[in-house]
Amino acid sequence: MISGHWRNAELIREFDLIHQLSCAQNIRRDEVALGIGDDAAVLDVPTGKQLVMSTDTLNPDVHFSQESSASDIGYKSLAVNLSDIAAMGAEPVAASLSLSLPELNTQWLQDFSRGFFALADYFKVQLVGGDTVQGPLSISVTAYGLVEKDRAITRSGACPGDSIYVTGVLGDAGAALLVLQGELSLTGSQASYLMERLHRPVPRVGPGQSLQGIASSMIDISDGLAADLGHILENSSCGAMIRIDQLPISAVLDECFESASGYHCPLYGGDDYELCFTVPEYARHEAESMMMQHQLPVSCVGTIEEGDGLRLLQPDGTIAAALSDGYQHF
Ligand code: ADP
Ligand code: MG
Repeated sequence: MISGHWRNAELIREFDLIHQLSCAQNIRRDEVALGIGDDAAVLDVPTGKQLVMSTDTLNPDVHFSQESSASDIGYKSLAVNLSDIAAMGAEPVAASLSLSLPELNTQWLQDFSRGFFALADYFKVQLVGGDTVQGPLSISVTAYGLVEKDRAITRSGACPGDSIYVTGVLGDAGAALLVLQGELSLTGSQASYLMERLHRPVPRVGPGQSLQGIASSMIDISDGLAADLGHILENSSCGAMIRIDQLPISAVLDECFESASGYHCPLYGGDDYELCFTVPEYARHEAESMMMQHQLPVSCVGTIEEGDGLRLLQPDGTIAAALSDGYQHF
């Protein structure tokens, strides 16, 4: 329980915030030689392993809406980073947290911590440091992971003939955004399913690690399958064909969209945080059985080809070029 560590006064000081964050966590990792409280943290990198690092920042209106709960923001700020570590095939170990806050509001921080540490505890990630400044609300997390030397799964290893897989289902988070923007109206239970998928993505940590030596390339889907697979294609200097009717979607998404327009969310909607990976023919069975061991549905959605660009095989048998852009910040 974290609540006992928090004072009741509405506003606290920076020292209290750091102390309380430090006390709120349950995880102590062997790799962390020195955690919160000094000028910097010190981590051991075991012999034969490499350190994997990733940073992501969440800003209001861009990454969450003003109505998002502090607990959801805390959860997601770590989730998006663990998803990046997972996409390298690495094991997350530690994280640091940079907070820019308009004020030190106890209730907000307590809720934020509850979400953050729910996920940190689940994946045994230790918070080892950070920074706290006054300013417009912005949350930046850096996650640190470990991977066996030279076994990280990059974006650059896809080869023509490899199969393209995605985990889970796609498009729920994109549809949730449409609901928030008032462009899609649903029943209460449909909407709450989509909101959960938007606010509480589950980083595919175990599955990502288990694809070491099996997947030829991997990326996590944060900006939509078309855009993120596009990064694999660019980095691997190849093209791909996606079969639209193989895209995995949830029952709720299926109910929302009856027409082919339903494929916009799974292809171009952001925030899914599923894994997209490529697998050479000989390793397909192993990849599928690994995902089965993790009880994670996996779908083969297409094939890597010679050339460049992403093509879509549509349900009517025609081929179209994918739209080029996912979410663009600038
Ligand atoms: P410095 O001035 O040397 O940067 P700080 O006073 O900012 O030190 O931080 C003191 C300690 O608290 C450091 O270990 C730092 O990593 C940690 N810390 C500060 N802010 C946070 C935060 N938001 N989350 C976790 N640890 C934090
Ligand atoms: Mg500082």
